[in-house]
Amino acid sequence: MKPVIVTDVEKSYHNKKALEPVSFEIEEGELFGIIGPDGAGKTTLFRILATLLLADRGDAYINGLDTVKDFRKVRNHIGYMPGRFSLYQDLSVEENLSFFASVFSCNVSDNLYLVNDIYKQLEPFRKRRAGALSGGMKQKLALCCALIHKPSVLLLDEPTTGVDPVSRKEFWVMLKRLQKQGITTVVSTPYMDEATLCDRIMLIKDGKMLDTDTPKGIVAKYPRKLYSVQSKNIAVTLKSLRSNPDIDKAFSFGDNIHFTLKNNVSADYTEISPTIEDYFMLLSENNTNSN
Ligand code: ADP
Repeated sequence: MKPVIVTDVEKSYHNKKALEPVSFEIEEGELFGIIGPDGAGKTTLFRILATLLLADRGDAYINGLDTVKDFRKVRNHIGYMPGRFSLYQDLSVEENLSFFASVFSCNVSDNLYLVNDIYKQLEPFRKRRAGALSGGMKQKLALCCALIHKPSVLLLDEPTTGVDPVSRKEFWVMLKRLQKQGITTVVSTPYMDEATLCDRIMLIKDGKMLDTDTPKGIVAKYPRKLYSVQSKNIAVTLKSLRSNPDIDKAFSFGDNIHFTLKNNVSADYTEISPTIEDYFMLLSENNTNSN
């Protein structure tokens, strides 16, 4: 049985669509990424999976259990780490852990082995208030709290947003280790570099699923040759490229502009390999134009 099955799930807030029909299935032990910018609908989807929000239509199952009808049972199967405010800032590290364990009627010592690697790093600060921890340590504690009742499915909503790059890397190492213990993880991120670390990713924007595939599969679908130019004034260069009749699409990309050429135009530009972000930009532009 697949641990996560989502079928045609839709959600609107005040008649405004936050999720168009979304469907996907996740394999056991898979590290599945939900990749999209702010407002894409990631949190809405997580809250539906975590039994905290009702979808307007469609079904979502965790380990074969309906997230609506069997919501109490589902909660024992999942560990949910919301993007913000998942810890009690005034409680210490060990008090937070004990609290989360008590909610699920288990003791910290029962399952500490599961999070031992992570907890070791937190132990020197166990008496410290969660609010006084660094961003990276807070995320580690939040992950421990989400795991303390030994869930088989982890739901992590933007766990690394606003966390420093070193802690972000460490966090992904921990996710890979948990995967080796058989845990299925659904993780969202706005960072495209993190998308490459997932087994499969779903690209989502404005509530619409743009594509679902492996990171390699995604970039292999890039349909054209892609070129790059560096620019000191991105806005000006972008405008001039977009008014060039040989250029098909142009997007800013840090200090560079990535662009494609219209068919049968050959030119002396530097060709580059597309990234997930390039494909995302292309899909989201196609999607905006087709609206
Ligand atoms: P993400 O997590 O990708 O940033 P969200 O799921 O938070 O996306 O939001 C998707 C859309 O739904 C956004 O347009 C957001 O403004 C809107 N939205 C989210 N929650 C609410 C709410 N409680 N009331 C009204 N609109 C909401």
